[in-house]
Amino acid sequence: MRRFVLAALLALTATPAAADVSVRWLGVAGFTLTSGETTIAHDPYLSRPGFLSTLFQPYVPDETVLGRMVGAESPAPELARTKLYLVGHSHYDHLGDVPWLAAHTQGRVVGSATTAAIARGYGLAPDQAIVADPGAVIGEGPFEVRVFASAHAKVFFGRVPFEGELGEPPEAPIHAFSFVLGDARGYLVTERETGLRVVLLSSAGLDPAALAALGEEVAPVDLLLAAASGREPDYAAQLVKALRPRLVVPHHFDDFSMPIDDPAAGAPRDEDDLAAFEAELLAAAEAGGLALDVRRPKLLEAWTLRAPDTSGPSALLP
Ligand SMILES: [Zn+2]
Repeated sequence: MRRFVLAALLALTATPAAADVSVRWLGVAGFTLTSGETTIAHDPYLSRPGFLSTLFQPYVPDETVLGRMVGAESPAPELARTKLYLVGHSHYDHLGDVPWLAAHTQGRVVGSATTAAIARGYGLAPDQAIVADPGAVIGEGPFEVRVFASAHAKVFFGRVPFEGELGEPPEAPIHAFSFVLGDARGYLVTERETGLRVVLLSSAGLDPAALAALGEEVAPVDLLLAAASGREPDYAAQLVKALRPRLVVPHHFDDFSMPIDDPAAGAPRDEDDLAAFEAELLAAAEAGGLALDVRRPKLLEAWTLRAPDTSGPSALLP
């Protein structure tokens, strides 16, 4: 029934109205959000070197891959005009390609002091590196971005991997494992014309107090982009309860040592675990009497988030 209602709300036009927000998953925790001519990106990680080179070589963005992704034949053409980069935390599979991309598109990079230090080490101009702590608000075109405190999932033998902070730019290139965490933060992105609200979480952890405070102020949100891997048993329930999202799109479930153009890239590493997360979200919504849709993203496919109306949930167009 819910699917039927959702389908009935899908617009038939192929071209979204300027106020709609276009969303594209780039793999791992990477997304672009586009409204009109303005694109912002979250954790775009496209180089995706193999496991052995990650282990034995310093991290160097793959200029062949990145050049193609911002070139005329890009499967994500909006990347070439991205003006704001949101970094959820400083691990290499989130931050690694951001300095190259931001330098190429003249975009600003928002993150922790550690994010700014590493990005500057990789050549980002100081005036493009914005240190923004939880509570900070940044504007970019029709978008307003708010930073809130979050946490990193304990994905490494029950621990948060590569914790630490950097205050000064390191001498790049550095090893992938020297991309220390900094902090883990979430972003609330509001499209001001429509009021559409999107919450981005780069890792499957949370700060219960910060999440509850955010939810009290802004729930329900239209779209929650939630990392899936390494979550605690009550992660899905806490997210749904606090944010009351109309739609959740899980991410960070793919094998990011697989090249982006591999036909198998974007598939879940652990199908059962992803299905379990989807079920946990839906169960939490049902327990709370909420209408929730969960959609699994396809790599590099753009969807349109429609402005909410009073008759039902927001919908994504394939
Ligand atoms: Zn991480």
